[in-house]
Amino acid sequence: MRHFPVFLDTDARRIVVSGAGECAVAKLRLLLKTQASVAVFGENPDRQVLDWAAKGRLRWVPRQIAAGDATGALLVYAANAEAHADARAAAIARDAGVLANIVDNLDDSQFITPAIVDRDPVTVAIGTEGAAPVLARDIKRRIEEMLPVTLGRLARVARAFRPRAERLPPGEARRRFWSRFFFERGPRALADGGADGAHAALVTLLDEVAAERTDGHVALIGAGPGAPELLTLKARRLLHGADIVIHDRLVPAAILELARREAEIVEVGKTGFGPGWKQDDIDALIVAKAREGLKVARLKGGDPAVFGRLEEEIAACKAAGVSWEVVPGITAASAAAASMGQSLTRRGRNTDVRLLTGHDTTGFAEQDWRSLARPGTVAAIYMGKRAATFLRGRLMLHGAADTTPVTIVENVSRPDQRIVPTRLIDLPEALEGIAGPATLMLGLAPHDAARAADIGIDLKEAL
Ligand code: SAH
Repeated sequence: MRHFPVFLDTDARRIVVSGAGECAVAKLRLLLKTQASVAVFGENPDRQVLDWAAKGRLRWVPRQIAAGDATGALLVYAANAEAHADARAAAIARDAGVLANIVDNLDDSQFITPAIVDRDPVTVAIGTEGAAPVLARDIKRRIEEMLPVTLGRLARVARAFRPRAERLPPGEARRRFWSRFFFERGPRALADGGADGAHAALVTLLDEVAAERTDGHVALIGAGPGAPELLTLKARRLLHGADIVIHDRLVPAAILELARREAEIVEVGKTGFGPGWKQDDIDALIVAKAREGLKVARLKGGDPAVFGRLEEEIAACKAAGVSWEVVPGITAASAAAASMGQSLTRRGRNTDVRLLTGHDTTGFAEQDWRSLARPGTVAAIYMGKRAATFLRGRLMLHGAADTTPVTIVENVSRPDQRIVPTRLIDLPEALEGIAGPATLMLGLAPHDAARAADIGIDLKEAL
C-alpha cells in the first residue's frame, strides 16, 4: 500500500488550487463539498470559476500562483493542465511545507484524491494507486447502487442518537439495532415522516432490541496451519461475525485480520513449556464472554480436535449452559503431507496413519513403539522437536531401521515454510535451527527423488 487513505479535517482550513481552467473545475466540484475555504489562482478562468466566485463559494485570484500563496494551506492542487506551470505550483507548495497533488501525475504528487461515493456523512473513498481508473469507477458505481441515497440523511439522524444506543451492550445487539435501522426501518420511516419519523423509528427500535435477549455463543474454530486460504468458509464467516476472538499463538496476523475491526482480540498463547495462559483461565474467559451475550470465536491452530484441549473447553461451555459448536480445520499433518506431495495412506504401504504428540503434560509421551517401528508405518508427530532424541532412541530400540525416512515440515503453508527430509538416525541434528512449529512425518519422504537420494533414503522403500 503505497498510498495510505486518511480523512482530512477541512474545517476552517484553506485549500489552494493553481489553475482556473477546465481541469481545475473538475477538482473544484469535489473541493467545494468540503468545509475548507478554497482559493483559485490563474488567468483565463473558466466561466464556472467566475460563477462560483460571484456566489462567494471560492476566492478567485486573477494571476498565477506565487511564492507565499500556499503558506498555511492544508493542500495544494496543481491543476493547470500544463507541466511547467504545475511543477512551479508544486514547488511553491513544497517550499511552504504543504502537500501537493498534480492532477493526473501520480509520481510527482504527494497525495492522490480517491474516487468518492458521497452520502455525507458517510463517505466511501476508493483508491487503486492510480493503476486502474476504470476499475475505480466501476467499484464506485457498484457502491453507489448499494448505498441508498437516503443513507446520508439516515446517518445524520443516527449520529445524534448514538449516545442513547449505548444502552445496548456492545457487539451483536448494537449491530442488530443499527443494521435494522439503516436497512429496514429507517428508509421507510424517512420516506413517510422525514427526519422526525426516522428519529421516532429509532426510539421504538431501541426498546424492541433492548427487550430481545441476545444469546452468547462459542464457536471452537480450526484456523488451519497458517495460510488464510486454508480456512474453511464457515471459519471465515464465524470469524467475521465474532464480537471477540480468542486465539492461540499459532494463529497468524493474516487470519486475525479477517475479524471485524471492532472485535476484541485476545491472545491466550501457551508456549510449549514456558509461561502462558492456564487452561482454566482460558475456559473461564470463553464462558464469561459468552454469558455477556457475545459471539465468541475461539480460534485454534490446525484442527481444534487435534492436540487442542478441545474437550476441556467444551466441558466448560456445557457446565455453564453456553451454546457451542466445533468447526474443523486442516490439521498440520494434512498440510504437511500436501506440502511434500505425499499421501498419508497408500495402498500396499500403510493402511493406517497415526497422529502422535512428542510430549504430554507429564513429559515425553510413551507410545506403542513396537508397532511404530514396523516398516511402512506412517505417523505425524506433533510437538516433537524437544523429544527428538528420545523418539529416535525408543524407535530404534524397538527395531526401526536407522534409514527410516522422517521429514521435518516447519511453518507449513506459511511464507517461511521449510521441508527438511532426513533419516531417523540423523533426526536430532536435522532439527537444529528449526525454530518455528514443526511436524515430523515419520515414514514419509518428500515426493522428490533427488533430495531423497542425497540423504541416502531408498525412495522405492520410502514412497
Ligand atoms: N491443533 C493443531 C495442533 C496443535 S499442537 C493442529 O491440528 O495442527 C502444536 C503442534 O502442531 C506444533 O508443535 C507442531 O507440531 C504442529 N503445527 C501446528 N502448526 C504448524 C505449522 N504451521 N507447521 C508445522 N507444524 C505445525
